Amino acid sequence: MRPLVKVIDLSALRHNLAHLQTIAGNAQVMAVIKANAYGHGVEAVLPALSEAKQFGVACIEEALELRALGVKQPITLLEGVFSPDELAVCVREALTVIVHNQTQLAWLAEQPQYHLSAWLKIDSGMSRLGFQAREAAEAIAAAQALKHIDWLGLATHFACADEPDNDYSEQQWAQFSAIALPSGWQRCAANSAALLRLPHTHADVVRPGLALYGMSPMAGTTAADHGLRAVMTLRSKILTIRTLQAGEYAGYGCAFRASKTGRLATIALGYGDGFPRKITSGAVFVRINGQLYPLVGRVTMDMALVWLGEDQAAVGDEVVIFGDGHAVEAVAEQAGTIPYTMTTMLTSRPHTEVVDG
Ligand SMILES: *Cc1c(COP(=O)(O)O)cnc(C)c1O
Repeated sequence: MRPLVKVIDLSALRHNLAHLQTIAGNAQVMAVIKANAYGHGVEAVLPALSEAKQFGVACIEEALELRALGVKQPITLLEGVFSPDELAVCVREALTVIVHNQTQLAWLAEQPQYHLSAWLKIDSGMSRLGFQAREAAEAIAAAQALKHIDWLGLATHFACADEPDNDYSEQQWAQFSAIALPSGWQRCAANSAALLRLPHTHADVVRPGLALYGMSPMAGTTAADHGLRAVMTLRSKILTIRTLQAGEYAGYGCAFRASKTGRLATIALGYGDGFPRKITSGAVFVRINGQLYPLVGRVTMDMALVWLGEDQAAVGDEVVIFGDGHAVEAVAEQAGTIPYTMTTMLTSRPHTEVVDG
């Protein structure tokens, strides 16, 4: 078995869900589990999410996967349906839809026999999905005219909630909260960053994804700073070790040249696993026997090279790519990306090992 493994810690996930629910106070947590639970594996993580009151996914395929795995809680399609024929499936599977434009409203209007729960999405400044704030009153009136729909409320999404020095979220919140809410409707706005940083935006339902998996959306901070625990550790092993003399080269394009004599380890980790290829030689560190060592040369499809310098290590020694004592947020920054992509872009090739505590 190839020794690259995603270790998924269910106790960390359970802790994060409970901790985020505490932070959310009276707001209810919608556990966002799209994109295969941000690469963690839906099937692997579900046993730790039995306490979640509701789930959010990007599309009906993801919702059906959850239902097939026995999820009974409400599931919201965060982008709604992509075609009107999906509405029948939403009724059958009791899925909640987001309605973000006139086209989706018209699809609902054409099917008065379909009784569904729905959120009306407002664009408060993200300019991606939703009725613009200036169209909100009209959209709400059109929604209310659809008597077969159980409207849960208004939803919106923040563009800059992860940036402490940016007050754009305040402008967005001012726009959103100024919209007159029909009686019985709720508000739903906060992603992970807003849940952690902007308590006044918690409203009725919060939608954390990243934080649930024990990653911080705020640059320069780690999950531990927010009382969260990393759910995934990406772990590999040393496949072989050689000594390079000063001046010898390694890897495709001879992209690494030893400036002095030292040891080079080859590990199982590549872009075929979803690890970023476009990293600077020497910029990204992995942990071996408690020490950090740089990835050097080019990341290949199946393997990467680690410069051990004068240190000793053995074939078969464990390599922590990120997680467990080696924060994914730091590795993401070294790789010139964000923690979201480090886990979500992993392919199905790394094996999964589920642990509990
Ligand atoms: C993905 C997503 C979220 C979760 O965002 P995080 O930053 O991962 O917490 C919340 N709301 C919507 C609409 C999303 O698409």
